Order: sequence, then structure tokens, then C-alpha cells
Amino acid sequence: MQMREFQQLMKELYGKRDSKRGIERTLLWLGSEVGELFDAYQKGLPKEQVMEEIADIIAWTCSVANLLDVDVEEACQKKYQAHCPRCKAKPCHCPFT
Ligand SMILES: [Zn+2]
Repeated sequence: MQMREFQQLMKELYGKRDSKRGIERTLLWLGSEVGELFDAYQKGLPKEQVMEEIADIIAWTCSVANLLDVDVEEACQKKYQAHCPRCKAKPCHCPFT
């Protein structure tokens, strides 16, 4: 499944609910899912559970993007293309932070 297809699926599954919830509460859900991934990692949970948390983060990111009328695939291609957007190298040569 391509990113654009996945984003469309999220719109079909949850678009009405996302609109009703609104952007701010949907962003809070996205943040909450990032916290759940952090917890899963710290607790050393099985890869299956980590995969579920990552899928949730991508799903909520698509919900946010749908509410803001942003095409995730286009946004990623535009920013990252085939190299680091800051140093233009592949792999990145930016100072490690
Ligand atoms: Zn870089």
C-alpha cells in the first residue's frame, strides 16, 4: 500500500470523526500515540506491539494531514526527495545533535 492510498483509507475510515473532533484534539491524539511508542520501547515490549504503535502514529499523522488538506506523500517527497533537506547529502552529514 502506498502512502497516498493509506491516507485515503484513513479519510474513508475516520474522516467524519476527525472533522467532528477537530484539529487540536486530533493533534493531541497524535502526541499521545508518540508517548505510547516511547513507553513500548522503554518497556522492551515485543516487536508486534511496537509495530502497532508505529502504525497508530502514521494513522494519526494522516488524520491530521487530512484535516489540514495536506498530501503526506507529496509533503515527504517535496521535503526529503533523495537526500537530507539541510545538508543535501545522502547519507546526512549534518553535525550530530
Ligand atoms: Zn543532513
